[in-house]
Amino acid sequence: MRAEVDRIAEPWGERTPYGPGTPWPVRVDSYLEPGVTDGDVEAWVPTASVLHSNGDAMDVAVAGGRIVGVRGSARDRVNHGRLGPKDLFGWQANRSRDRLTTPLVRRDGRLEPCDWDTALGTIVDRSKDLVETYGPGSIGFYTSGQLFLEEYYTLAVIARAGIGTNHIDGNTRLCTATAAEALKETFGCDGQPASYADVDHADVIALFGHNMAETQPVLWMRVLDRLAGDEPPRLVCVDPRPTRVARHAAVHLAPRAGTNVALLNALLHEIIRMDRIDRAFVDAHTVGFDELAARVADCTPRWAAGICDVPAAAVTEAAEVLGDARRLLSTVLQGVYQSHQATAAAVQVNNLQLIRGMLGRPGCGVLQMNGQPSAQNTRECGADGDLPGFRNWENDAHVADLARVWNVEPTDIPSHTAPTPAMQIFRYAEQGSIRMLWISGTNPAVSLPELERVRGILRRDGLFTVVQDLYLTETARFADVVLPAATWAEKTGTFTNADRTVHLSERAVEPPGDARPDLDIWLEYARWMDFRDKDGRPLVGWHDPESAFEAWQECSRGRPCDYTGLTYDRLRATGGIQWPCTDEKPEGTDRLYTDGVSWAAPDACETYGRDLVTGASVSETEYRALNPHGRAVLKAAEYLPLHEATNDEYPLQLTTGRTLYHFHTRTKTGRSPQLRAAAPDVWVEISAAEARRHQVAEGDLVEVTSPRGSVRGRLRVTGIRDGMVFLPFHYGYWDTPGGAGPGEDGGRAANETTVTDWDPVSKQPLFKTAAARLTLIERGDGAVSPAPTTTASAPVDPAAAPPTTGGPAALARQSTGEPGGERS
Ligand code: SF4
Repeated sequence: MRAEVDRIAEPWGERTPYGPGTPWPVRVDSYLEPGVTDGDVEAWVPTASVLHSNGDAMDVAVAGGRIVGVRGSARDRVNHGRLGPKDLFGWQANRSRDRLTTPLVRRDGRLEPCDWDTALGTIVDRSKDLVETYGPGSIGFYTSGQLFLEEYYTLAVIARAGIGTNHIDGNTRLCTATAAEALKETFGCDGQPASYADVDHADVIALFGHNMAETQPVLWMRVLDRLAGDEPPRLVCVDPRPTRVARHAAVHLAPRAGTNVALLNALLHEIIRMDRIDRAFVDAHTVGFDELAARVADCTPRWAAGICDVPAAAVTEAAEVLGDARRLLSTVLQGVYQSHQATAAAVQVNNLQLIRGMLGRPGCGVLQMNGQPSAQNTRECGADGDLPGFRNWENDAHVADLARVWNVEPTDIPSHTAPTPAMQIFRYAEQGSIRMLWISGTNPAVSLPELERVRGILRRDGLFTVVQDLYLTETARFADVVLPAATWAEKTGTFTNADRTVHLSERAVEPPGDARPDLDIWLEYARWMDFRDKDGRPLVGWHDPESAFEAWQECSRGRPCDYTGLTYDRLRATGGIQWPCTDEKPEGTDRLYTDGVSWAAPDACETYGRDLVTGASVSETEYRALNPHGRAVLKAAEYLPLHEATNDEYPLQLTTGRTLYHFHTRTKTGRSPQLRAAAPDVWVEISAAEARRHQVAEGDLVEVTSPRGSVRGRLRVTGIRDGMVFLPFHYGYWDTPGGAGPGEDGGRAANETTVTDWDPVSKQPLFKTAAARLTLIERGDGAVSPAPTTTASAPVDPAAAPPTTGGPAALARQSTGEPGGERS
C-alpha cells in the first residue's frame, strides 16, 4: 500500500479486499498540515465527522492551541480507521478568518457588533413580549442536523415545555424526514433496522437513489473492499446519473425522475410472480400482504418501462438479482426522499425486504440513510417536532410520560395537533403568524426551495430573526440578531450516525473570540427566560454537556432509542456504540428486529401512520384494527404522476444533488482549500444527446430556467439520462459580490429554480423533480466546466476536461495499522 495518496484525485484511497463474514481490514488515514509532524502534535482528541451521516471516528491533532490535522480511529466500528476527503480536509474551516467572533444586532438597518448581554437581552425581551401578546405560536425554531444531541434535547425542552410552541423543526426535513417517516410507516417507529456491518455479509446490495460513493464515501470504501475480495456482492443501482455505484452495479436502472413508485411496484410484482417470498416470515411478522399483492398485480415490467423509461428486461433482471439474494441489504437516500412520492417509494423498499424475509440477520436489512451527521439526534430528541424518545403525540399516555420526565403538566406540552414541518413554519412566517424565527446551524437562504420567496420571507418587517452560526451566511445577512456559535472540536457532546452509532466528540481547542457552544446559548436563554417546572424548579436543570446527556438518558429510558447504558466515560473508552444500549445490553445493539418487530404495537408505536398517497392520518381506532399485534405493516401505494411535468416551454427534467467534495451550502467545505479547489463553482450537467439537441458543448456558459428562477453555470456533458439537467445545490452567494442573493452574473444557487412542494407524508420538499429549459449564454471557447471528473460528474469524453487532482496539498497518509492501537 502506498504511504501517501492524493485523496482529491483518489477519494476512496486504496483497497483492502475482504470476503463475506470476515472482518473489514483496518486502514488508517491521516492528514497533517504541511510542516507539522507527528512529533509536533501535543494531543489527539477524539471525535467523529460532522460533514456527512457516516459517523467516521477520528482524532483531531492539536498543537499550539490549534487544530493541525486529523487521523482516523482504527478501533472504531464505523470506519476502521478510514477517512473521506471531507473528513481529511474539512476541519480547516474551523479556523477560517471570517468566523463570527462576536454577537451582532441590527441597528438602523445594519448589523453591528455587541456583547452577549445585549444580544440575549434583545432576544429575551422580544420572546417575552411575543408570548404575552400573541401566544407561544408566534415563535418558531428552525435548527440543523449538525449540532449535538445535548443541544437538540435542550432546544426541544425549551421550545415545547418552555415556550410551548409546536413550531420546531430541523433542516433534516429537507434531508431525512422521509427516512424517519418510512420507518414509522412500516415498523411503527423510527430507528434504523440495519447496521453498516451488514455490508460485510450481504451477497446483494441494492442502492435506491443513493449515491453512496459521494454521500458516504467511507461506507462506499467498505463496499469497494467487498467488491475487490472473494465472493463479492452484486449491486443493484437505481439512479438517473452514472454514479460510481452505477459503474459497479450488476444492474443499473436509470428511471425518469419521479417514477420510483412505479419501478418499485414492478420489482415487487416480479418478486411475487417468481414466488421469491419468505411466507413464514410474512405470516409471522407482517400485516397487509394481500393488499400489497393486489396493488402491484398489474405493475408488470412492461407497464413500468412505459412510465420509467427503463427496459422491461432490466426490471426483470433486477428483480431476479433481488429475488435470488440470500442476504440482501437495501439502502435508500435522496433520489427517493426528495421526490413527490417520497415516503410511498421508501416504504416499498421496506416492503421488498420484508416479503423476502430479509431483516434482523447479518447481511439482511434496510438502511434508510440520513444525510447529516446528527440528523438521527434531531429526530430522537424531538428537535424535528416529534416528541422526544419517539413518543407518539397522539397517544395521551406518551404525552403524560413525557410530562412526567419534564415535571410539567401534560397540557403544557403542545400536542393538540401535528407538529409544524419546516415548509409550513416558513409559510406561517410569510403570512405573519410566526413573528420570531430562531435559526440555528442552517442556511435556508440557500437550502430551501424557491429562494426568491425565501429571501422575501427573511426580509419581512414583521419577522424578528435570530441566526446562530459560525459565519455570516447568506441567511445571517437577513437576521435581526446574529449569535456566533462554537463548532465541532470547540465544544463537547455526542451525536449519532445513520446506523445508530453514538460517538463522543470532545473539545479540542477554544472557540474563536466570544463564540459559544449552542448548548451554552440555549442554557443561558432558558435561565434568562426563567422557565420553570410545575414545582417551581428550573425547567432546564442541567448546566453542561454531560449533565444534559444524563437528562436525555432519563428521557430515553425504556424507549426504542434507549441510551441508559451509555456514559461519556464508556464512549471515551470504547469509541462508537450503537443504541439501544442498556444495562442489559451494555455492548449496544447491532441490528433491530432480530426477534420480530417490537415497536409497532398500538400502545407503543410512534405513529398510527398516514395514507401514503394523501398524507391523511390513520386514526388510532383504524390502526388498532389493522395491526392489533404490532407487526410490520406492508403498506401499498399506487404510482401518481409528477406534479410539475415537462412541457414545450420547460422541456427538461431538472434534478439537483450533491458532489463528494462539498457538504450542504458549502459554509464549511467552501472554506477548505483542497475541497474548494476540487469543485470551485456551480456547473450544469446534461447528456451528449441533449448537448447536441441544444447545440452546446463542454465549458459553454448556459442558463437553466424554471418557472421560479434561473441559474448560470458552465456545461458538463455526462452520462446522465437524456431529458434531464442536473445542478449541484451547494453553491450560494457568500463568496460572490451578491453576498446573500444573485448579483449581476445571475443565479448561482440551484434552489433559485426548485419548487415549493413536498411529499404529502414526510413533508420533505421536492428537490429532484421540476421542469426547466436550458439556453446558451456564451460559448466556452476552451473554458472547462468546474465539475469534478472523479465522480458522477465525469465527462463522457475523458479528454474534455483535465482530471480533478489535489496535488501535493491533498496528499494524505494511509497505513494498515495505527501506532498504539489495532482495532479491538
Ligand atoms: S447534502 Fe443532502 S443528504 Fe447530505 S445532509 Fe445535506 S440534505 Fe442531507
